[in-house]
Amino acid sequence: MGKYKVVLLDADMTLLDFRRSERAALSWVLERHGLPRNEEVLSAYSRINDALWKAMARGEVDQGFLVVERFSALLRALEAGGDPKALNHDYELRLGEEAYLLPGAMELCRDLAAGGLTLAIATNGLPAAQWGRYRRTGLDRVVPHLLVSAELGAAKPDPAFFDRALERLGVTDRSAAVMVGDGLETDILGGSRAGLDTVWYNPGGLPLSGPAVPTYTAADYGALRDLLL
Ligand SMILES: [Mg+2]
Repeated sequence: MGKYKVVLLDADMTLLDFRRSERAALSWVLERHGLPRNEEVLSAYSRINDALWKAMARGEVDQGFLVVERFSALLRALEAGGDPKALNHDYELRLGEEAYLLPGAMELCRDLAAGGLTLAIATNGLPAAQWGRYRRTGLDRVVPHLLVSAELGAAKPDPAFFDRALERLGVTDRSAAVMVGDGLETDILGGSRAGLDTVWYNPGGLPLSGPAVPTYTAADYGALRDLLL
C-alpha cells in the first residue's frame, strides 16, 4: 500500500510478550517478599492490574496511584502484610529484565524499516520496564524511537500523548502516520481522536467493543505487512 511514512507501534502484546514478562517478574517479586506464589495469586494480580489500567484509560486513576494500588489490592486479597511501594519498586525493575518478543515481531520491524518506514514505539508502560525491554530485546537497533507516556506527560488515549509523540518525531502531516496496537481503548480510540489512521492488531479475533473504530484490522503480522508496505 505504501500510504504511510511513520508507524507508531504499541509495545505490550503488539510486539512484546507482556504476559510472559509479567508472570516472570511477579513470580520473582512474590518469592523475594515471602508471599505465596501460585496460579491463583498470579491470575488475581493480572485481574487487579488489568482493571486498574482500564480505569486509567478512562481517566479515573493516574499512574502513580495505579502502580501502588495494584499491590495494595493484592496484599488485601492475600490477607498478607507488606509494603506495596517496595513490591512495586522491585517488580518494575525486574519487569525491565524479563524481555520477550512475540514470535515474528523482530522480523516484522526489520521488514517495515527496510521498506523505508520510520518506526516508533508508543507505549503507556512504565519507563524502567519499557526501556529495559526495548534494549534487551534488541528492538532498539531496529526501531529508533521509544516514546513512553510517563516521559511525555500524557497517556493513550489522551490526544495530548499523540500530539507530543508526533511533535518529537517531527510529523506535521498526520495522514502520513498510523497507530498500530492491540488496545481498543488506548491505541485505537486515542489514535483516532488524534486524527490518525489506526490498525487494530487483533490476533485473538476479538469482537469490536466500545466506542473505538479502527481504520483497519490485522489478525497477524503478515496482514500488517500487507497494509503498511
Ligand atoms: Mg498493548
